[in-house]
Amino acid sequence: SELPADSSQTNEIRQVSNALFSYVNPVKPSAPKLLHASKEVAEMVGIHADEIQSEAFLNVFSGKEILEETRPFAMCYAGHQFGNWAGQLGDGRAINLTEVQHNDQFFTLQLKGAGKTPYSRTADGLAVLRSSIREYLCAEAMHHLGVPTTRSLSLILSGDPVLRDILYNGNPAYEKGAVVCRVAPSFIRFGSFEMLAARNELKNLKQFVEYNIKYYFPEITGEAKEQYLKFFKTVADKTREMILHWQRVGFVHGVMNTDNMSIHGITIDYGPYGWLENYDPNWTPNTTDSQNRRYRFGNQPQVAQWNLFQLANSLYPLINEAEPLEKILESFMTDFNSDYTKMILAKLGLSTLAENDEEFIAYLESNLQLSETDMTIFYRNLNKIKKTDSAKKALQAIEDAFYKPEEIKDTVKDNWLLWFTDYLDRLNQENTSDGERIRLQNSVNPKYVLRNYMAQLAIDAADKEDYSLISELYELLKNPYDEQPEYEKWFTKRPDWARSKVGCSM
Ligand code: AMP
Ligand code: MG
Ligand code: MG
Repeated sequence: SELPADSSQTNEIRQVSNALFSYVNPVKPSAPKLLHASKEVAEMVGIHADEIQSEAFLNVFSGKEILEETRPFAMCYAGHQFGNWAGQLGDGRAINLTEVQHNDQFFTLQLKGAGKTPYSRTADGLAVLRSSIREYLCAEAMHHLGVPTTRSLSLILSGDPVLRDILYNGNPAYEKGAVVCRVAPSFIRFGSFEMLAARNELKNLKQFVEYNIKYYFPEITGEAKEQYLKFFKTVADKTREMILHWQRVGFVHGVMNTDNMSIHGITIDYGPYGWLENYDPNWTPNTTDSQNRRYRFGNQPQVAQWNLFQLANSLYPLINEAEPLEKILESFMTDFNSDYTKMILAKLGLSTLAENDEEFIAYLESNLQLSETDMTIFYRNLNKIKKTDSAKKALQAIEDAFYKPEEIKDTVKDNWLLWFTDYLDRLNQENTSDGERIRLQNSVNPKYVLRNYMAQLAIDAADKEDYSLISELYELLKNPYDEQPEYEKWFTKRPDWARSKVGCSM
């Protein structure tokens, strides 16, 4: 690589200065077993689908064998965690196998859970089957929803037990270990820039920014400073688009620390993520954040802006002018807000802006909360409404989305009737036919998302060596916007048993 490397070559835990990465080899698994692999992702990176079932594939993507002429590495980066400066973090359980160029695109192939690196701090560098299934399936589900994300190439059991818990009686609780191979243009994070700036390694910072522009944003040209600003603007734009998609599909990342923010504006690091079921902007799947709720659904745009502010601070020493950076940060939020309005209108099947859009949307979102309404089912079922319906009939069309229909107060029903009266008015002001509107709505309102309980069922079955649900969910989530009669059973609200279940990070 062209970037400064760590000169030491052990995987001893340490601070690594003057380097962006350390060479490190994956740990060899004792009995690797392929549970699932994506043909599509394999082909995207230049692996023939026929090779997936080969011994070589299993060995390489479990970490057992290192491909000739490659040198796996772990990246050094820092970051802000939950708003606090955390210093050096780095790839503690991620090892980049290699970078490939295929069809004029760059891809980094990265193993997660393949053992310790210099950045593992107090942890083991491993991943359990449970969290690996969640990451593997969710990344692919997000991709097919049209949300920028890392991709999943393979899910492999390591055959080695991983210690994750000590039981109440003092006995260790082991879980099955797994390794996921994930793929992205790069895994470069805001935290990489923060680290160089914090250590005042300005020469490396400049070199690193220029490296990023050269390989990942070659369309950026101009004078040096102008390029750095354009780089920041590009990252801000891509981040904004990603967050808008998250809000559209009800995805809550759960750990939006700056070390989990990609310069490509792709969703990275699927830990305690979750999907909104009953619409609630205050919801977070992250139990360690249940007090402050910093990473709650409704706060994701603000957090993204805060994270971009940290990136701006890190780039400042190369630019030495605050104003242009501040302007980009300000426009992030104004642009986000106007995009958000248009996005919700699109979900409602409306293409014309109106003066009272903000109130109209706020009223809807308040109703969604007051009547505990499943976000996915509500928006999807708007496709049952016809322009000529009465407000009462329209309300009936979405009733399935209510978690406790019998407990909805009359005042809330009245609110809904008022909102539907406005909504039908607006539908009638548009020239689009019901059929055309519904076609457009169905392309932005998914029918199927990876609800927490679905992932949990796949995990429970996999624990008993039944991997069929992993495949079923993988297939289902390939076409989240399509009617799939054979999978209709997945178009349903979260069952009662899953109500307080949240995601898990480790
Ligand atoms: P996360 O919150 O998952 O983004 O992780 C924050 C930091 O902790 C990153 O530097 C990770 O690489 C590291 N980390 C998380 N889990 C492990 C683990 N099991 N072993 C080593 N490092 C870990
Ligand atoms: Mg992370
Ligand atoms: Mg993580």
